[in-house]
Amino acid sequence: MSVIKDVIAKVKQTDPDQPEFHQAVEEVMETLEPTTKRHPEFVKANIYERIVEPERTIMFRVPWVDDKGNVRVNRGFRVQFNNAIGPFKGGLRFHSSVNLGIIKFLGFEQIFKNSLTTLPMGGSKGGSDFDPKGKSDGEVMRFCQAFTRELFRHIGPETDVPAGDIGVGGREIGYMFGYYKKIRNEHTGVLTGKALEYGGSLVRPEATGYGCVYFAAEMLATRKLDFKGKIVAISGSGNVAQYAVEKVNQLGGKVITLCDSNATIMDEKGIDPKKLDFVLDLKNVKRGRISEYADKFKAACYEGKSAWDVIREQGIKIDIALPCATQNEINGKNAAALVKNGCICVAEGANMPSSPEAVKIFQENNVLYGPGKAANAGGVATSGLEMSQNSQKLSWTREEVDSRLHLIMKSIHKACVETAEEYGRKGDYVTGANIAGFTKVAKAMLAYGIV
Ligand code: NDP
Repeated sequence: MSVIKDVIAKVKQTDPDQPEFHQAVEEVMETLEPTTKRHPEFVKANIYERIVEPERTIMFRVPWVDDKGNVRVNRGFRVQFNNAIGPFKGGLRFHSSVNLGIIKFLGFEQIFKNSLTTLPMGGSKGGSDFDPKGKSDGEVMRFCQAFTRELFRHIGPETDVPAGDIGVGGREIGYMFGYYKKIRNEHTGVLTGKALEYGGSLVRPEATGYGCVYFAAEMLATRKLDFKGKIVAISGSGNVAQYAVEKVNQLGGKVITLCDSNATIMDEKGIDPKKLDFVLDLKNVKRGRISEYADKFKAACYEGKSAWDVIREQGIKIDIALPCATQNEINGKNAAALVKNGCICVAEGANMPSSPEAVKIFQENNVLYGPGKAANAGGVATSGLEMSQNSQKLSWTREEVDSRLHLIMKSIHKACVETAEEYGRKGDYVTGANIAGFTKVAKAMLAYGIV
């Protein structure tokens, strides 16, 4: 057996109940096979087995009190995966589906993504099975405070710097930062995604969505194509989806779908800037459901269907797909329908939104396929820029942050393309991203000896 196969088998045997983690490890490890020949020193130091084992896994009880006075308990997680190239860094997810396997898959991906950004950040991830949906602001605040009451001892601006993810936006970051500041008696850059008034960065809210579209534009340019006049399908309607819509509109494309966990809306006239303002207010202020968009703008609404189901079932023609909701949202059947309906480019705003079958179908059909760890790295890259501004105690202008974000996305694209070519896999962004991200981390691990 090869080193790679051994590592995958051991991961499955050790943690049999973590399918998402297995999927992420398999996807990365299989593309790393050629590095075992080029870098026998990595094999000798057993880097491959060491990199799939988190540095530290923290699980904790989060007791809090709801509005009716009931005591509620959730489970908190922080998986500090790898800090070879910088302090641990990665988001927090609050969603009922959260479990250790999901946090490990996200933390593992984060290692390679953060390495690709060129910034000095290690990989980690955390969260809870608490779902902010349907909770009052007071309940969310009490939960965030209880969560921080344990998390605070494991994080710090030079140790581990969490940020947002599904279910964790500006409101939640504010409650957690405020509580950390209170109990530590220090105002430091311990979290990113902060509001501007207390140390946030301009363009951080927009960064993941914008970055994903910048990455897609780079992929399209390799075939002398661009967004002008293209029909774009976007899933989700949260932070990443919202700003992906904004950037596609700016580049002349037309977005026709958005969804949430209850429904998909289809607006063939396009989600223009005015309609997007309605979505931002609906989702970020009123915390309503996307179906209200259909009532307001007389668009089609499909209850209980994902955007990808709707495109397949209705046979809708699209040019570009930007999945921005959650893991494994595009299955093989829906990927085949996307190809059949003319899709030429898929850039992942979400983490691992395409199942392994879907990825295979995109690659076999010559679709420009940008995996999440490259295409959505703009969010964490701009978090890195927020950390730099916090350390310098300075704030950069919108233009400065946006131009740095754009440059980083171009450099990630270049690294993917060049590394794929170097390893004889021209046009394979998965191999390019994985090997480029891995090599830097592996070299740093090697330099430290066995620690
Ligand atoms: P948000 O919570 O802001 O939005 C998530 C959106 O996806 C919501 O519309 C949500 O619907 C929908 N969604 C979540 N789970 C499901 C599901 N199981 N089925 C259908 N729809 C679902 O999160 P973000 O926009 O921040 O994150 C979206 C994706 O992007 C995630 O994969 C995240 O890991 C990834 N990402 C985020 C980054 C960031 O900076 N925020 C950075 C890099 C990646 P509902 O409201 O009904 O739950």
